[in-house]
Amino acid sequence: MERLKIGLDLDGVIANSASVILNAICAKFRPGYSFAERRLGLDERVSDLGVKRAELLEYVAELQLEEGYHEKIKVVDGSLEGIGALSQKGFPIYILSHRPETVKSPKDLLYLSYNWLCEKGFRNYITNLTLNPDHQDRDFKVRGAVEKDIKIYVEDEEGEAVRFAEAGIKVVFFDPSGERLSLSKDIIVANSWPKIVSAIEKFSGV
Ligand SMILES: [Mg+2]
Repeated sequence: MERLKIGLDLDGVIANSASVILNAICAKFRPGYSFAERRLGLDERVSDLGVKRAELLEYVAELQLEEGYHEKIKVVDGSLEGIGALSQKGFPIYILSHRPETVKSPKDLLYLSYNWLCEKGFRNYITNLTLNPDHQDRDFKVRGAVEKDIKIYVEDEEGEAVRFAEAGIKVVFFDPSGERLSLSKDIIVANSWPKIVSAIEKFSGV
């Protein structure tokens, strides 16, 4: 039986990049300041730091190309095992990320991101990795998922999760804090990778 295509977010779902990025942007824009452990959306970070959204995005784009950046990023607990299990069950795995793919060189972000995934052991599990060519394009992930006929998407950002559901895609909303409640029947909240796998199986009727 052909399995449904699964879409995955990269940052926050597979790559534990938030703390690396937050530390770097604090050091750059407001030395000595800390976001503590609060989970903040981009717009809240922008207002906390008093910078322009475009300026912050530009800085994060450069940061992701810096030497040593990817080495600092750890894998989200259980993601390798979970994605391996889904792949073994025959689910095609697509990764769609807002990471701004702005540079076209051997050092570009697509290459660095794919390399990081390979180094962490994901190579054989992934059908496709797509990064956003224009970081101002906020609809990129949902539109890409619709175009690729992805039926279930795993996302850790609430606004994005709602947009996927509105586009008719089932969503597993990854909330490691375990604080959120289900947002609708098309969005299952999971606080760990084993629960993400169970939610995908439930949505797909496996
Ligand atoms: Mg994310």
